[in-house]
Amino acid sequence: MDRHFDIIVGHTPIIQIFYRYKGEARSVFCKYETFNMTGSIKDRMALYIITRSYELGILKPGDTIAEATSGNTGISFSAIGRALGHRVIIFMPDWMSEERKRLIASFGAEVRLVSKEEGGFLGSIAMSRQYAEDNAHVFLPMQFDNPLNAEAHMRTTGPEIRRQLGSLGLVPDVFVAGVGTGGTVMGVGAYLREWNPGVRVHPLEPANSPTLSTGHKVGKHRIQGISDEFIPSIVDLGSLDRVVQVDDGDAILMGQKFARELGLGLGISSGANFLGAVMAQDALDGQATAVTIFCDSNKKYLSTDLIKNEPVKDGFLSPEIELTHFKLLRCAEVQ
Ligand code: PMP
Repeated sequence: MDRHFDIIVGHTPIIQIFYRYKGEARSVFCKYETFNMTGSIKDRMALYIITRSYELGILKPGDTIAEATSGNTGISFSAIGRALGHRVIIFMPDWMSEERKRLIASFGAEVRLVSKEEGGFLGSIAMSRQYAEDNAHVFLPMQFDNPLNAEAHMRTTGPEIRRQLGSLGLVPDVFVAGVGTGGTVMGVGAYLREWNPGVRVHPLEPANSPTLSTGHKVGKHRIQGISDEFIPSIVDLGSLDRVVQVDDGDAILMGQKFARELGLGLGISSGANFLGAVMAQDALDGQATAVTIFCDSNKKYLSTDLIKNEPVKDGFLSPEIELTHFKLLRCAEVQ
């Protein structure tokens, strides 16, 4: 591996979002993962798994990379895998956004769409494993089960947050992250716990589809990238604080608010993460140091409800939040 992707993966800024809630000025620190090579947090995991697997000798030049993904992971493995000369095959549910499917294809990967009848997400995982059984020289990153996924965040995202908050003399009191594979919440959470054993680490799930709380697929939701129908093996709920729930409509409205009022075009899971952080912060003390993730941008959601008129329902939090301004904490400056 002689390509220096690490220069354009990670080292992302933190955006400190200032807002008013319950008549008080507050702020939340949001890791701005849109700044990664393909525009999402998943570049960290893909680059780390590929790099470490080369070092461990389990990924070799010429191998085919086959992965099941709801989108961003596929985009990351396609871009990095193809650039390293690998054939990349992505198995994904057919209901994911058009932009995701086309982006993966545009990086030169093969996309295998899996319908609900074929098993949807779980079917995609089963098919990727079957493909590896039926063919020689196939590397399966297995993002839902691979400890290197959480390790990527323990080694990169966590230490960056420490350097950035540390430059302000701050220690995080609470961290919230929506769970897809759980790599982010487990990896960053473990790192922040070593730094501050008292930090609260909350996994987040859609209120409309509470897989973490129930243990299985239930309901439907529109927060692409999280709550993929099951609890991944790398998630250890027992080591985390309580699950935070956000309605997908509230997450969409929050995303719209960021775009319209601060000029920040974010994906739906970023809106959910911000609301989760506001709730978890409020439960401690409005001035607690809260950290979350802006996982990707709005660009992959232009064919989704993110750009449609979303009804406000009783109990939504986004209408109560007045965004005021933001500050950028660069990563390089504090290195
Ligand atoms: N948000 C988006 C947009 C994602 O693509 C993902 C990854 N599936 C997540 C959140 C959740 O990250 P993780 O897999 O580390 O739990």
